[in-house]
Amino acid sequence: MRSIDTSRSIAISSPKNVPNEQPPADPPVAPARSALMARVGPRDTLPEMVVRRLLHAMGNRFRLHRRDLPGTPDIVLPGARKAIFVHGCFWHRHPGCPKATTPKTRREFWREKFDRNVERDRRKEVELRQAGWDVLTIWECETRDTVALEKNLRDWLASSIPKEARLPVG
Ligand SMILES: [Zn+2]
Repeated sequence: MRSIDTSRSIAISSPKNVPNEQPPADPPVAPARSALMARVGPRDTLPEMVVRRLLHAMGNRFRLHRRDLPGTPDIVLPGARKAIFVHGCFWHRHPGCPKATTPKTRREFWREKFDRNVERDRRKEVELRQAGWDVLTIWECETRDTVALEKNLRDWLASSIPKEARLPVG
């Protein structure tokens, strides 16, 4: 009996159970990691992942980063014609939010940059609405309270805009 057990344990640890892949290289040092973050860029941010997880758990199907739509909405529910932007409070200037600070140096530079961001966001949202999309902006800081966020999402998903309330096209 003992010899059989031994042979079995040898079989289990046979080479076919050993992964072929080489172990990953050394963990990235700080510069490599920041390069990776830069490559990932504004996509797939943590707040966005929170929203995606909630939508998924609520049984929704969605598409990501539809470049063919104005402003490349972060999340799109094509059937319902609903589009979601998940905005960082700093870059997109969440009104009244403590995270929407202005750096102390080069204030004029930052102000102009922020103004452009806000103006672009506003324009893209108008374009989307004119194309018949219902638009929701979720701010980064709102993704920390997932209970409130889920309620907001549910309410918004359940709502539908009457045609006459939509912005005129053109
Ligand atoms: Zn905020």
